[in-house]
Amino acid sequence: MRIDAHIHLYPPSVYANPTEWGAKRGEAYWLNCVNPTSGPQLQGWASVDQLLKDMDTACIEKALILGWYWENADTCFENIGWQWEWIAQHPDRLKALAPFNAIGGARSIDSLKKAFDNGFIGIGEIYPPAQGFSYENDALDAALDLVAQEESMIVNVHVTDPTTRDYPGKIDTPIDDLSALAKRHPRTKFVFAHLAGMMNLPELKTLSNVYLDTAAVPLLYKEDIYQTAIDLIGSERILFGTDYPLRTFPKKQSAPDFATHVDSICNAGIDAKDLEQILYRNLNQILEPDA
Ligand SMILES: [Zn+2]
Repeated sequence: MRIDAHIHLYPPSVYANPTEWGAKRGEAYWLNCVNPTSGPQLQGWASVDQLLKDMDTACIEKALILGWYWENADTCFENIGWQWEWIAQHPDRLKALAPFNAIGGARSIDSLKKAFDNGFIGIGEIYPPAQGFSYENDALDAALDLVAQEESMIVNVHVTDPTTRDYPGKIDTPIDDLSALAKRHPRTKFVFAHLAGMMNLPELKTLSNVYLDTAAVPLLYKEDIYQTAIDLIGSERILFGTDYPLRTFPKKQSAPDFATHVDSICNAGIDAKDLEQILYRNLNQILEPDA
């Protein structure tokens, strides 16, 4: 069995016309990522039915649907509304992390409290440098304190490696600021997305509340990166994630899937025990600490 720690999902009202939808909400950064004016078009789209079919094909038992790192708090609230429906319809297969923008202040904190009361299991994906707030922010601290209240909750934070390929809207991550945030919140479980951009892994190993995920890794690195990451931080701190429905194997995939990423990590020469921890055990232990 496998659990995917990092996917995104949008309703048909968004992907019928992303340009119009995004422009109306002032989400220029998102629009540039999903519908760039130059370079390859990697963003795929999927309905919830297609998502479940693709999960079945690749033996993905559960997937965590992350919100986007929206520039506007109101777009976060709209996104939470979609996720609310999906997790209510498929509680055994789909879990949700709520999008959050600290600029919304008390309204954003309220939206998180409501979401957590209704089954959301944390916050994400957030990326302060793209969302217009700092890693040192009172509302962000309050949000992370909420996550710390439950052992089974996490916050997923986007990380960009400055040395990997350029893509539209690429904004570098000040990794020391992010590490300082995780240090200030030792009881909050953090997932640094995209293998934390392979930055400062020996230091992150000393922060027991920090995990990494493998979302979009096939787009960024060669397959031997998994073993390098295991050697630097340990397999017990890495969570499998895809970034579905992003086409992370643009040459092999005509449509988004999970199977290509699963095959690739399973054939990367990783020890079977490490693989099982990454694909299932680590996240399952977080989600069900009493099991
Ligand atoms: Zn990301």
